Amino acid sequence: MSDKTARSRPARQAPDTVRAQKGMLDMGKQPIIGVAPLLDRARGRWWMVSEYLDRLAGAGALPVVLPMTERPDTAEGLADRLDGLLLPGGHDISPDLYGEALLPACGELSPQRDGLEARLFALALERGKPVLGICRGFQLINVLLGGSLYQDLPTQYPSELLHRQEKPYAAPCHGAALERGTPLQALLGTDAIQVNSLHHQAVRTLSPRLEAMAYAPDGLVEAAWMPEAPFVWGVQWHPELMPPEDAPSRALFRRFVQAAGG
Ligand code: MN
Repeated sequence: MSDKTARSRPARQAPDTVRAQKGMLDMGKQPIIGVAPLLDRARGRWWMVSEYLDRLAGAGALPVVLPMTERPDTAEGLADRLDGLLLPGGHDISPDLYGEALLPACGELSPQRDGLEARLFALALERGKPVLGICRGFQLINVLLGGSLYQDLPTQYPSELLHRQEKPYAAPCHGAALERGTPLQALLGTDAIQVNSLHHQAVRTLSPRLEAMAYAPDGLVEAAWMPEAPFVWGVQWHPELMPPEDAPSRALFRRFVQAAGG
């Protein structure tokens, strides 16, 4: 082949190069991550905070919002086909689930969400599928594994720290000290990060099946994992609401998607 011919033809590019030029990361297959739906009681509708989906897609996943269903066959079908499950933030959790009477200061509950997410979590656990719990999702994982919650932080755990910050939610409002030797600390390679905080409840007793990975300065558990599972992590803050370029949040979503096969 002459030099002229070689120059006149565009060089054949490897698929990786083409993907990189299109702004796609080369991250293997796109695992399907199901996100449990949120409830808008005023409208009687299910909805979603788009940032959960954006961050999952940005980390290489194919995110899908799950239907609110009470059908066992639908929940099982989803658990079979999903590569991972994200339990998002939202309503307070029914204290029935950890054997306490409802306090007046407990916030609005969603027994439908509690029920669906409990089923999906159990099915994911049976199948060894990765689960990431965010805020309420983390609290629910703790409760489903035998832990308990503060039903109302301001009255049950008075603190100098603001756990229910004002907007903008992309601005961190308190620190989180990472526990040495935990997978979160290994992932982030640091001993402390700054996190946002938008929660009314928090872990009171951590499940014996979970291990804390991070603490707020006032002692609340900010992250935990389940050592006996392939990947069950929970965080109390909202990484999806942090800026898209926030390195710890990106690393967290990427680690979850990787655990799901991405
Ligand atoms: Mn907090």
